[in-house]
Amino acid sequence: MNKHEKNLHNCQAIVITCMDFRLRKGIRKWTIEKFKNKTFDRVAIAGGVKNLPFILDQIELSFKLHHISEAYLINHEDCGAYGDENTFKKHKEDLLFAKQIIKQKFPALKIYTLFQKLDGKFIKVNK
Ligand SMILES: [Zn+2]
Repeated sequence: MNKHEKNLHNCQAIVITCMDFRLRKGIRKWTIEKFKNKTFDRVAIAGGVKNLPFILDQIELSFKLHHISEAYLINHEDCGAYGDENTFKKHKEDLLFAKQIIKQKFPALKIYTLFQKLDGKFIKVNK
């Protein structure tokens, strides 16, 4: 594979969300506005960043194979995978913890943490 072919296989970002079907419409709208004609890898897993080892593996592959420069971590309101722990406080803690761990492993990566409401709105989650 030459360099040119390799570059064709690059993408901008990885987007990690919960698998919950209720989010799909909102995510599609958000990614169309956010990335326009840029490409991104997409991971949908119950609980979003809740399963951090799995997320780390996916980011590592995306980084190695597609040379991403950004990661979007998106948890959401009323997430079944969180059960009784389903509070904004807990989601915020998990998102910021995931960001910290990912940053340690991939210092070059820009990491964005977001919380999606069921009405489709996205809230930026920062310290
Ligand atoms: Zn969920």
